[in-house]
Amino acid sequence: MKYDVIIIGAGPGGIFASYEFAKKSSLKVAVFESGNVLEKRKCPIDGVNIKTCINCKTCSIMNGFGGAGAFSDGKYNITNDFGGSLHEYIGKEKALELMHYVDDINMAHGGEGTAMYTTAGSGFKKLCMQNKLTLLDASVRHLGTDINYVVLGNLYEELKDRVDFYFNTPVRSLERAGDGYRVITESGEYDCDYCIVSVGRSGSKWLEQVCKDLNIKTRSNRVDIGVRVELPAAIFSHITDELYESKIVYRTEKFEDNVRTFCMNPYGLVVNENTNGIITVNGHSFEDPEKKTENTNFALLVSKHFSDPFKDSNGYGESIARLSNMLGGGVIVQRFGDLERGRRSTEKRIQECTVRPTLKATPGDLSLVLPKRILDGIIEMIYALDKIAPGTANDDTLLYGVEVKFYNMEVELDENLETCYKGLYMIGDGSGVTHSLSHASASGVFAADRIISAR
Ligand SMILES: Cc1cc2nc3c(=O)[nH]c(=O)nc-3n(C[C@H](O)[C@H](O)[C@H](O)COP(=O)(O)OP(=O)(O)OC[C@H]3O[C@@H](n4cnc5c(N)ncnc54)[C@H](O)[C@@H]3O)c2cc1C
Repeated sequence: MKYDVIIIGAGPGGIFASYEFAKKSSLKVAVFESGNVLEKRKCPIDGVNIKTCINCKTCSIMNGFGGAGAFSDGKYNITNDFGGSLHEYIGKEKALELMHYVDDINMAHGGEGTAMYTTAGSGFKKLCMQNKLTLLDASVRHLGTDINYVVLGNLYEELKDRVDFYFNTPVRSLERAGDGYRVITESGEYDCDYCIVSVGRSGSKWLEQVCKDLNIKTRSNRVDIGVRVELPAAIFSHITDELYESKIVYRTEKFEDNVRTFCMNPYGLVVNENTNGIITVNGHSFEDPEKKTENTNFALLVSKHFSDPFKDSNGYGESIARLSNMLGGGVIVQRFGDLERGRRSTEKRIQECTVRPTLKATPGDLSLVLPKRILDGIIEMIYALDKIAPGTANDDTLLYGVEVKFYNMEVELDENLETCYKGLYMIGDGSGVTHSLSHASASGVFAADRIISAR
């Protein structure tokens, strides 16, 4: 079978690339996806019969139409300040233009009416500065998990007759074939002139192998490690009501490390995340008022950059996450007061806690899991946040660990997101260029446009 373009991965990067081809070209396009079509993506954990991860063949949370973003909070951060380094390849103006373009498409497919928040003109910037904190600039479109799902469903309806989707079809290997490429799956081999690889974080190990086989240069030196904080929504409501998602950075006094808030979920839920069999923690929130909880959660992450000779930053993060899985059978939860007193949280202390946990996690001691430098940074930041949101450092504030933000190795790409091989593009989180919905989606539009104009 021969296609003009093959896209590997149906996450935001792959979806927006295929959308662009469908809208602006008559190219014959196929998308190969390891996971399921959207409506068949169901995690078997029901909290009753199945309480923890049973390691399905493909993870419905991470794989399938919509990619890792399908059940996410659907926060599209329109900014060059975080979420990826797309602007370093294509320029700041173009990157922002494409993020707005993606937003317009989302609005036209079920997202209209959802809120757009912005830090521009916010008084919190000054308040943060006065307390050794930095508020990063961004506009945030919050679709919410429910509307995000609707938008994905509508996009699929529009695309399915224009693009050949192969679900439950992981690509085993990718080879050069003449001037084009050959994509090899268990059910057959497919050739194409252009290939866009958009395999996200879950495909990072596979992509690493592809790059090794094809001799494409990569580098990997960063991982973010930390905890997810859960507290009564009222404590942060003056910030979340105005900004929804605030990215606040703190530089620690002791080690001069940067600690930052990440993925804030007002009135949301703390959830498990499975990356290659390792259980870490994450958060969700919903637009639907009926699904809102009384808590807000957000991550506090410390970035670790390694230098030579160490090259396996993700391996380092995985080892720490494995440690929490070993001690707690999954995610560990601890009251901030217990952490400060140097004792583990117990089932009884969590039950007596005034903050009701939204995730069933094992009460334990995060100081046995997180390296001192990281833990000290998190504690310092909790006290800094307490100055702009009093109550953050309360004894009953819950900390779930560990949260790890794995960064994919960065693939060597040119300003077109093209590898050293003509016609082979690598985009989205898998390429290391992006770490967010808006950047990944914009990278898909960009690569598709490059291919369309090269034809
Ligand atoms: C719980 C959660 C919440 C999040 N919330 C937000 C948020 O609110 N805002 C935000 O900006 N970001 C959020 N993110 C991150 C965001 O989802 C990602 O940045 C984004 O999905 C990256 O898009 P992508 O297309 O690059 O990769 P992905 O979304 O990971 O998609 C890659 C796809 O490729 C497929 N694949 C992998 N390997 C192969 C292979 N060999 N063959 C075929 N298919 C393959 C996978 O199955 C997957 O479907 C969240 C992530 C998670 C897990």
